[in-house]
Amino acid sequence: MTTVAAYAAPAAKAPLERTTIERRPVGENDVLIEIKFAGICHSDIHQAREGWGEAMFPMVPGHEIAGIVTEAGPGVTKFAVGDRVGVGCMVDSCRECENCKAGLEQYCTQGNVGTYNALDKNGEPTYGGYSTHIVVDEAFTVRIPDGLALDEAAPLLCAGITTYSPLKHWNAGPGKKVAILGMGGLGHMGVKIAHALGAEVTVLSQSLRKKDDGLKLGADHYYATSDPKTFEELRGSFDLILSTVSAPLDLDAFLSLLRMDGAFVNVGAPEEPVSLNLFSVIGGRKTLAGSGIGGIQETQEMLDFCAEHGFGAEIELISAAEINEAYERVLSSDVRYRFVIDTATI
Ligand code: NAP
Ligand code: ZN
Ligand code: ZN
Repeated sequence: MTTVAAYAAPAAKAPLERTTIERRPVGENDVLIEIKFAGICHSDIHQAREGWGEAMFPMVPGHEIAGIVTEAGPGVTKFAVGDRVGVGCMVDSCRECENCKAGLEQYCTQGNVGTYNALDKNGEPTYGGYSTHIVVDEAFTVRIPDGLALDEAAPLLCAGITTYSPLKHWNAGPGKKVAILGMGGLGHMGVKIAHALGAEVTVLSQSLRKKDDGLKLGADHYYATSDPKTFEELRGSFDLILSTVSAPLDLDAFLSLLRMDGAFVNVGAPEEPVSLNLFSVIGGRKTLAGSGIGGIQETQEMLDFCAEHGFGAEIELISAAEINEAYERVLSSDVRYRFVIDTATI
């Protein structure tokens, strides 16, 4: 065991504070990663405040990890000391079920092992990226291409893959009208990726405050959902709506914006249930679907895609002492567009 520095929530709703945690010894197939940067995902806040239900404390959040390999176990074949690597939302899965075998470890029928707020196969709690080091099986580690700066790459490990996977699955591309709902951490990556895939991109945000940024990131159109005229004007227009909204929303109103056979795909994970009038999907044969992060192979594909297209995330780099303040800013939609912790400050 190695003792390393971390930032942890000692209890639900308590502010995060500096502490130390134990990392397991580097095993046969493990890499030891010196974490350089860790993104702050809204999921960190949902979990640290028990918005999704009972959680494990102390909690070291962080599943957008970018760093350098500083040690590799004897069985490691994919990575060597000095490699630039990333770790996302999961650090293990059963590896044997149908979904794992198909490269969809996020949908492991036994449940994947979360990077934090979870127990590993030995029953030990997992701790995430708000920390200086982490030990991870190489099978759940991905390579960060040279063209991507590590700080701008970190958010790709969750915000990037969570938007890339459904955009690919629902065929966002040339000739498709795609709306991205919510312009936060996930949403701004959704805009960049959908644009890079060749789709016609519309941002649906609560206000027009971030319109200039949205257009710069690749959106063709930008509308405020606070304006009722938006819903009249855009009625029946989208092939795909990707919702990244972290709070409950009026599904019926957004389903009315789909054209026939269009799909509303939700990745936002609000703390309360939402209601739905089923007639909203009957008329126009519409699809209402969800999507969770992405598999390891697809995460690598997404990183390579972003590097090829020359973009990472838009970030605001912060020190560890600013984490609690950053949480409040995320909660008030005041994030442009991902907070990333410089882990050297922990
Ligand atoms: P974020 O940076 O806070 O972005 C969420 C955006 O939603 C905000 O920027 C805001 O966009 C919009 N929004 C917030 N409150 C709203 C409200 N009351 N009504 C309407 N719009 C609202 O969060 P994030 O890190 O992108 O995460 C978004 C959600 O996805 C979270 O619930 C997170 O837990 C979930 N998530 C899911 C997965 C998955 O695998 N499915 C993975 C990662 C995260 P505007 O200011 O533009 O309106
Ligand atoms: Zn996340
Ligand atoms: Zn499995």
